[in-house]
Amino acid sequence: MKVLDLLCDAGHAFEGWFGSEDDYSAQCERGLVECPLCASRLVSRLPSAPRLNLSAARGSVAVAAPSATPEQHSVEALWLRAVRHVMAQTEDVGERFPDEARRIHYGEVPTRGIRGRASGEQAQALRDEGIEVQSVVLPEALKGTVQ
Ligand SMILES: [Zn+2]
Repeated sequence: MKVLDLLCDAGHAFEGWFGSEDDYSAQCERGLVECPLCASRLVSRLPSAPRLNLSAARGSVAVAAPSATPEQHSVEALWLRAVRHVMAQTEDVGERFPDEARRIHYGEVPTRGIRGRASGEQAQALRDEGIEVQSVVLPEALKGTVQ
């Protein structure tokens, strides 16, 4: 599997999972790669370095359309892998999520990926302040292993 950093024309950074770089090119040519945030198909590839700056708190980690070929992994398997990938790259701050997201946004602490719990109102308040928050429902299979 290849994880590529992608950017849509609206400036959303996200990750796409592909079997290979050729697989990515083929899907791109067929218009199968789209931004998970705004569904734009004008997607370009970022150099791999900015990965460090992709933080879950800014809502920049997501999954692109998986390959449609049957021998590839199922959508569910890809989703599980993507969630595990996000979890491996983010720090669980639990209930402190809204505070930590603000501190990162306002530059009080170094930018990093975090995950945690926020109520719908808390998430909305963060969005009102211009902080992008990605809501992710964890698959049942992972709940036992998290927290
Ligand atoms: Zn977008």
